[in-house]
Amino acid sequence: MRLSEYFLPTLKETPAEAQIASHRLMLRAGMVRQASAGIYNWLPLGLRVLKKIENIVRDEQEKSGAQEILMPTIQSADLWKESGRYDDYGKEMLRIRDRQDREFLYGPTNEEQITDITRAFLKSYKDLPKNLFQIQWKFRDETRPRFGVMRGREFLMKDNYSFDLNIKAGRYSYNKMFLAYLRTFARLGLQAIPMAAESGPIGGDLSHEFIVLAPTGESEVYFDKEFDDIKILESKYTYSEADVADCVKTYTSKFAATDEKYDPKTCPLEEKDLKTGRGIEVGHIFFFGDKYSKPMGATIQDADGKPVPLQMGSYGIGVSRLVGAIIEASHDENGIIWPEVVAPFKVGLICLRVDDEGCKAASEKLYGDLQKAGIEVLYDDRNERPGAKFSTMDLIGLPYQVTIGPRGLANGIAEIKVRATGEKSELPIKDVVKSLSA
Ligand code: ATP
Ligand code: MG
Repeated sequence: MRLSEYFLPTLKETPAEAQIASHRLMLRAGMVRQASAGIYNWLPLGLRVLKKIENIVRDEQEKSGAQEILMPTIQSADLWKESGRYDDYGKEMLRIRDRQDREFLYGPTNEEQITDITRAFLKSYKDLPKNLFQIQWKFRDETRPRFGVMRGREFLMKDNYSFDLNIKAGRYSYNKMFLAYLRTFARLGLQAIPMAAESGPIGGDLSHEFIVLAPTGESEVYFDKEFDDIKILESKYTYSEADVADCVKTYTSKFAATDEKYDPKTCPLEEKDLKTGRGIEVGHIFFFGDKYSKPMGATIQDADGKPVPLQMGSYGIGVSRLVGAIIEASHDENGIIWPEVVAPFKVGLICLRVDDEGCKAASEKLYGDLQKAGIEVLYDDRNERPGAKFSTMDLIGLPYQVTIGPRGLANGIAEIKVRATGEKSELPIKDVVKSLSA
């Protein structure tokens, strides 16, 4: 992509309404633009990141055996009356009437909708287990939308739902998702700690929140200091039964809880082993058994032909919130520092002097070669001052910056800067593609 043609409306000034780094940087880097309170337009650079996160989340869901579906954002209020949640949800739910005056709502979550699908089609224990996921926009009319996409009113969520015959099988599905979440966040370059949590309006008694530590996080959390040292390696655990069991045991044997669950009187840790901090909730999983299947009549025939309610769990990941969470975890005073897996482009190519014929020709050639090699590159071919070019690249945080200027070019040399470390090196231009392909 040529920067001269790209829609990248960066801002020089820090917008006054942005209180935290990720919000500031997303606005300044031209990733999003607010449409109304807590509702955002996603611009090209922001959308590329959102899609990359979405794809990692999707890939890990599929590896765990879950299957993708897509449910509507607009749901019938009748379903929510059946489960009894229509009134419970209160003002967070955006209620809508159609031209026939029928009641609808913009889904804040989808337990009712999915139960309606599965009660129609899952009939026998032979149809189980099933795990269905979607990546879809949700709407919650939050009292205080803030921090940009971190607490929006409209936000993108991966939600999935497991269906099992009995509690034991249901808990196994829950554990498998517990592992899928650790693998997903590790792949995104985040250390997310699973914490015992309240299940709130979703219901049930088994629930974990996955929390990324950050000083700007909204939750106060308490955890075993050993969590500082364990970094889950995505390759360490597969989805085998033994690995699922070992992973859950390893992670749940250490104490970690959000402030809603933390009680100093019952905390098993000595003060010296307890750490507290602030964190961002990036995922939340629940096992709630028959809370929805029972009132909504989602029953299944067991092996003796007896009807039993489906045992269900639900699992959410804040896909759009993750964009902000990753930036909170990875930025400096000059801008964003994208982990390579979610970076909008891997390489920023800077032509230092577009008015210098040789410099322009060498940059154009390298741009073409990088594209041919399948490397995602944003090429700054604008007629701008070098200082402006460098600061744009630092702001948008691409992992590698490659600069071609007249002086280096005289020796056939390009400069490569690693955004994360600031480390610079010189390389023959002819070796750049090979070095960046590695
Ligand atoms: P929170 O406690 O942050 O309000 P929640 O517990 O209400 O979140 P869940 O119902 O567990 O949220 O939703 C699943 C995931 O969706 C959350 O873990 C979070 O990552 C994300 N999420 C929830 N609310 C928002 C929001 N307003 N904006 C962006 N992401 C959100
Ligand atoms: Mg939650």
